[in-house]
Amino acid sequence: MTTHGAPFQDAVAHATAILGVSVAGLVPGRLSTSEWVTLLRDVERLGRLVDAARVALAGDAENRTGGPLDALAALGYASAVDAVATLTGLPDRDAKRRIRLGGKLNAGVSLTGAETGSAHPLIAEAVSAGTLGVDAATILTDALDGVSPRVDPVVVSEAEEALVQLAAGSANHPPLRADLVRGQAQLFVEAIDPDGVRPREEAARRRRRFTIGPETRDGLIPVHGLLTLEIGASLKRLIDAHVRKVSFTDPSRPFGDPDTSVPHTDDRTPAQRRHDTLADIISAASRVKDAPEQAGSAPAITVTVTQTALDEGHGVGTIDGVDTPISVDSIEKMIDSRGIQTVTMNPNRRILSLGSVQRCFTSSQRRAITARDGGCVIPGCTTPAGWCDVHHVIPWRGGGQTHTDNGVLLCWGHHQNIDNGPWRLTMPDGIPHVRGPGHPDWTHTTKARTGPPLTRTG
Ligand SMILES: [Zn+2]
Repeated sequence: MTTHGAPFQDAVAHATAILGVSVAGLVPGRLSTSEWVTLLRDVERLGRLVDAARVALAGDAENRTGGPLDALAALGYASAVDAVATLTGLPDRDAKRRIRLGGKLNAGVSLTGAETGSAHPLIAEAVSAGTLGVDAATILTDALDGVSPRVDPVVVSEAEEALVQLAAGSANHPPLRADLVRGQAQLFVEAIDPDGVRPREEAARRRRRFTIGPETRDGLIPVHGLLTLEIGASLKRLIDAHVRKVSFTDPSRPFGDPDTSVPHTDDRTPAQRRHDTLADIISAASRVKDAPEQAGSAPAITVTVTQTALDEGHGVGTIDGVDTPISVDSIEKMIDSRGIQTVTMNPNRRILSLGSVQRCFTSSQRRAITARDGGCVIPGCTTPAGWCDVHHVIPWRGGGQTHTDNGVLLCWGHHQNIDNGPWRLTMPDGIPHVRGPGHPDWTHTTKARTGPPLTRTG
């Protein structure tokens, strides 16, 4: 033990012994509110001091590895990250983060052995004083390092001073919450380095990506990605514009009557509604005439299912390229929409037929149905016609024809839910009628602007 290490180790051992007993005896519910407020704040400050020591120690790991005298390799560690992760029990990601921040804040040592000081002296000082948390310190060091190659060092250090005062608080104002520090740092960075925006955008553009799959064991396909600002914002706008709560009104009451809203729950979560809107967008995009061809045909997915399963209406099939089986119910809904081709096989997997074109509505049938329905026929739904599937009101298996008198527009979400949800559909004389929440009787439904107003029949 060196004279530098011994007092610190004593302090840590002492604090651990005291705190170990106190924390074990703490019953938060027995604190008065003022004690709770004070302790919450003070324990956080103590935590920041402990964090400062953690980051400083981790940050020295790189200095102890590599070169002819690799102290960490001698102890059996593969790298600085391996040593910190193993000794602390942290995940690699967090170990890396600590090493990186510590490396930036710790004082350096020059080749001659003289201390060179921290690259961010004011941030380092606030972290060791326990007034600046490591999350905020990471944001600030990253922001300043991003501009330092292009900006006068005097300006950078002025920005560091101002940002530390904002984030850690001063006599004049309280500290900034860590989640607000990033925005403030960004404002400073843009003010002192206006030319930096373009390179940052270029760097961001290089990192753009979008991945699909692999499928999970419970039969879902994850998507991950980083979208450029303009694409992400466009996608968000497009989805937000259509992810609305579906509202229902009772047509028997006068318009504007406060009692006309009928309790009905659209029990989808916002995330589920965003998924369903994306499904509508994909369905619309796959119907575009000049969509790119794949292997000589329009972009279709192939579903394989036995004739018996299709005839009996239960069983499973498989989508080409996806391992998880799919139910006949879902297959029938896919067959309703365009771009789905079925390969029908007998139980010995001999191909009986390829495709089943009469089950798909043609584009001219679709145009006619669009003119009549104008959009998803479920009252209150705002999905535009171009995004909808055409649904067989009488199922094809039940003898329903692929005829305009038997097809209505439904958005993906309502199409999935039509057999088990609250809505029923019927087509007297080829005119779509719905029955459901707020529409206890069969009610004519259309979204077409030129169509007749809602009237009741039956
Ligand atoms: Zn709908």
